[in-house]
Amino acid sequence: MMPLTSTALKGEASREVQEILAKAAEGNLEEKDALRLMKAEGIDDLFALFNTAHEIRKRQFGDKVFAYGFVYFSTYCRNNCSFCLYRRANRCAPRYRKKADEIMEIAEMLKKSGVHLIDLTSGEDPQIHSEKGYRRLLSYVERLKKELDMPLMVSPGVLPKTVLRELGRKGLDWYALYQETHNRLLFSKLRCRQDYDERMKAKTYAREEGMLIEEGILIGVGESREDVVDSVYQMKKMKAHQVRAMGFIPQRGTPMESRPSPPILEEMKAISLMRLVHPDRLIPASYDIDGLKGLGLRLMAGANVVTSLIPPRFHLRGVAQAELDVESSLRTLSGVKPYLQKLGLEVASLKSYRKWIEEEKARLPGK
Ligand code: SF4
Repeated sequence: MMPLTSTALKGEASREVQEILAKAAEGNLEEKDALRLMKAEGIDDLFALFNTAHEIRKRQFGDKVFAYGFVYFSTYCRNNCSFCLYRRANRCAPRYRKKADEIMEIAEMLKKSGVHLIDLTSGEDPQIHSEKGYRRLLSYVERLKKELDMPLMVSPGVLPKTVLRELGRKGLDWYALYQETHNRLLFSKLRCRQDYDERMKAKTYAREEGMLIEEGILIGVGESREDVVDSVYQMKKMKAHQVRAMGFIPQRGTPMESRPSPPILEEMKAISLMRLVHPDRLIPASYDIDGLKGLGLRLMAGANVVTSLIPPRFHLRGVAQAELDVESSLRTLSGVKPYLQKLGLEVASLKSYRKWIEEEKARLPGK
């Protein structure tokens, strides 16, 4: 595979796209121009877009990427999101809950493998979303911070303000909560019977309590390109530290199981747009969608974090692709490293990741 160099990606884009990209490279991309880029179709325009995003990523982060380990510790959920394998009503969903010691063991293994962050994720498990459950979640965070001293993210769904405050006090670094879309009508179809504003507010509270926040959207779920552009700028307004676009994968037993996945180019365009609008933010390239080959394309579009790495042996699940490469060990940092090298990329040091998050935390309100 060819390394990601500007020569490899160079094309003869239309004059209009070249002018827009020149403005974008200087940090001046207006929404109407962003929409023009989302609508780009020709191969030369697309290459120019990906190339510009790639160059901006390189200017900000060099050839270094960060890597996140993933612990999906409960696949139970009280919600019924129409796109999700783990929705409450889905009888086809594999269900499990990991105990505290097992979570620690998995996290320790991930730390040893060299990841920069442990991402502790679950569905909105009713056993976590209760007084007792919140205390358990807090105890996991406390134990992980104390025993592993690693950057830590949690994504267990919408949490009350009081719990977010406690998590902030325990030194939690990241709170991830994806809106999926910022189009309220589409939100109501995707996140059925969930409160749009409550979800947005939880992210604001998390920032106020000293945590970095991750926002994300789904691509290929009925959104328009205007919606994608709007989301990219909403993420800017909410000052998200990590911004994500993920292509939809149909899941068995869900109302959207017959909907096809979108072309990967749509996701790549959204990632590039995010890089243009959020030059110095973290942008994940998920392993969870279509494995190594998809990872490379997403990195080529401007992403700089490899996410969803999962250790084998523990029968853990992914979010979008429950089993993809998990037990074959390909989905580990050592499985991914040779591939990154072929792309001309390197795994950053833990020290540099810690520095990035500490500098961002120091800029949060009240610091
Ligand atoms: S997306 Fe999250 S909240 Fe929605 S059903 Fe799936 S696990 Fe539950």
